Amino acid sequence: MSQPVDLSPLQRELDNLRLQLCHCNNAGTCLGCQGVEVLRQQAQMIVSAASQPVLLQVAQETQAKELVKQVQDMQERLLRDPEAARALEELLKYFQAPPEDEGTNH
Ligand SMILES: [Zn+2]
Repeated sequence: MSQPVDLSPLQRELDNLRLQLCHCNNAGTCLGCQGVEVLRQQAQMIVSAASQPVLLQVAQETQAKELVKQVQDMQERLLRDPEAARALEELLKYFQAPPEDEGTNH
């Protein structure tokens, strides 16, 4: 019943985003890289938790809570570092910003 979820378009977008934010030459050490990896992990966790069979519904509920906790822990860890917090904010802005309105700000 459950179909495999294709994450590759999202992965491509994340790779693309990482390239744009990276200033460690893709070594994975800069905040851009780390922030994008957090998003990637979150997406994978959400997909694996949400695509469990219905039989595991109770476990799934627990898992969902656990998932939320893990995500919060990760975010807290990032937010404790003011620079990382800023990087994460930038990331979120990128996702929320409308793609139109080109050239007026940079
Ligand atoms: Zn980097």
